[in-house]
Amino acid sequence: MRWSLLLLSLLISLPAFAAGEVNLYSARKEALIKPLLERFTAETGIDVNLITGKADALVKRMQSEGSNSPADVLLTVDAGRLHRAEQADLLQPAGSEVLDRAVPAAYRDPQGLWYGLSLRARTIVYAKDRVDPKTLSSYEDLADPKWKGRICIRSSNNIYNQSLVAALIDELGEQTTETWAKGLVANMARPPKGGDRDQIKAVAIGQCDIAVINTYYLGTMLASTDPRERKAAEAVAVFWPNQQDRGVHMNISGAGIAKYAKHPDNARRLLEFLVSPEAQRWYGEVNFEYPVVQGVAESATLKSWGTFTADTINLGRLGDNNAAAVKLMDRAGWR
Ligand code: FE
Repeated sequence: MRWSLLLLSLLISLPAFAAGEVNLYSARKEALIKPLLERFTAETGIDVNLITGKADALVKRMQSEGSNSPADVLLTVDAGRLHRAEQADLLQPAGSEVLDRAVPAAYRDPQGLWYGLSLRARTIVYAKDRVDPKTLSSYEDLADPKWKGRICIRSSNNIYNQSLVAALIDELGEQTTETWAKGLVANMARPPKGGDRDQIKAVAIGQCDIAVINTYYLGTMLASTDPRERKAAEAVAVFWPNQQDRGVHMNISGAGIAKYAKHPDNARRLLEFLVSPEAQRWYGEVNFEYPVVQGVAESATLKSWGTFTADTINLGRLGDNNAAAVKLMDRAGWR
C-alpha cells in the first residue's frame, strides 16, 4: 500500500518534472510579475526561477556569464534596455508566430529579438483647479514661455525621459529637440527630483501646474491604501498630447529570449503565455498598464482616462537615439 502511494505520487509529480524549468532575469518588481508566473507554472508545469535585479546589472551579468549564462529570458520595463541587450548580442530570435501575430509591429523587434508585453503611456497631467486643458496641446508646447515656472518632470538620467527625448529626436531632428529641451528646462518649477509619483504630488500641493508621468503611477496612487496618495492623485487629470499628429509617447515592458538559453522552448512558451488574454488583462488590473495585444478589455481605471492615439514609432528607434538624447539633455542643462 505504501509503495503504491509512493508510485502514485511519483507519477503525479512526473509531468511537472518532465516539463522542466525556465530561468527568468527580470527587472520588474517581484510583486508585479510573480502571480503571473505562478499561473504559468500551474498551466504548463514549467517552473520559473525568478532572478530579479536592475536592468543594467542583469545585462552586465549576462555579458560576463557569456555562453554559460543560465538566463533563458531577459525581461525589462523599457525598450531602451532591451535595445542595449540586443546591441550586446545577448538575445536570439523567438521564432514565434504567436508572438508576431499578437504584438503590433511598433512594439517588437523586427527580427523577433524582443517583444513588448505591456504598454506604458508617458503623458501630461495637470492641476484640475488651475489649468484649463484647452491650453495644453503637445509635448512640443511644454517649451512655450506660458509654462514658465509651472512644469515638474524628473531628471534626465531617467530612462523614461531619455526615451521621450529619443522619440522627439526621431520626429523633429536633434537641433529642434535641443531648442525644445532648453525651453522645457527654462519652464521647470524646480530642479528635477524624485520619481513620477513625486511630480504628481508636487502638482497636488501647488509647486507646479503640470507634470510629465507614466500613467500607471497615477493608477497606483488612485488605488493606494494611503489617503494622502489618493488625494494627490485626485487633484490631477490626464491630458493626451499630440492627438492631431503622431500621438502619445509609448514605452513597453518587454522581454527577449537569451542567446545562450538552455531552455529556449520553455522561454518561448513563457513569452507566449505573457501575451495571452488572461495575462494581458492582469497587467491592466494590477499595474494599470495598457495591454499590448489589441482587443483586450481595459480595466475601469484605464477606461476612465479615455481613449487616445498612441505614437507608432518603432520602439527600436528609442534605443538607436538614446546616446544622442542623453547628450542633448545634458547640453540643455536638464539635470
Ligand atoms: Fe516605472
